Amino acid sequence: MPAGNCSLMRKILVSACLSGQPVRYNGTAKSVRHPALDRWRAEGRLVFVCPELSAGFSVPRSPAEIAGGCSGEAVLDGAACIVTDGGEDVTDLFIAGARKALALALDCNCAFAILTDGSPSCGSSYIYDGSFSGRVHPGAGVTTALLRRNGIEVFHHTAIDALQRRLSAA
Ligand code: SF4
Repeated sequence: MPAGNCSLMRKILVSACLSGQPVRYNGTAKSVRHPALDRWRAEGRLVFVCPELSAGFSVPRSPAEIAGGCSGEAVLDGAACIVTDGGEDVTDLFIAGARKALALALDCNCAFAILTDGSPSCGSSYIYDGSFSGRVHPGAGVTTALLRRNGIEVFHHTAIDALQRRLSAA
């Protein structure tokens, strides 16, 4: 019997905002529709999480970016911080949210994740550079970095076809 309420089927962790939940910093969702998502949902394979809400942030909240053009990896290593547009250091809360997302993923037997790109938590191919000017650079958010360190394969929300192929090959 696995811990928690999740079955033994390998599941997929999904950013809650992709499912239409208005949990982003500005109170919006980032809904994504894809036939595979509908199928996986019907099969009970999807596990939704918002790391930032899990950590105690509210909606709406101040936008935050990883400072200095760094990545989630550097944040986990203690070499970078995450700040709001008002200059508040929110690094500890973001790490707490990443740990909660990882705990849920492990509890629910998630081997894969589909996360919202660009986020300082959920980004996986690009993130904002900390200047709050709209500039992005290649890199991952802190939740993505922690999931990957623990063997969970993370796909960004425009790479659902790639996850389908990965599951077919598994
Ligand atoms: S932390 Fe992730 S799930 Fe939550 S709003 Fe941001 S991108 Fe969406």
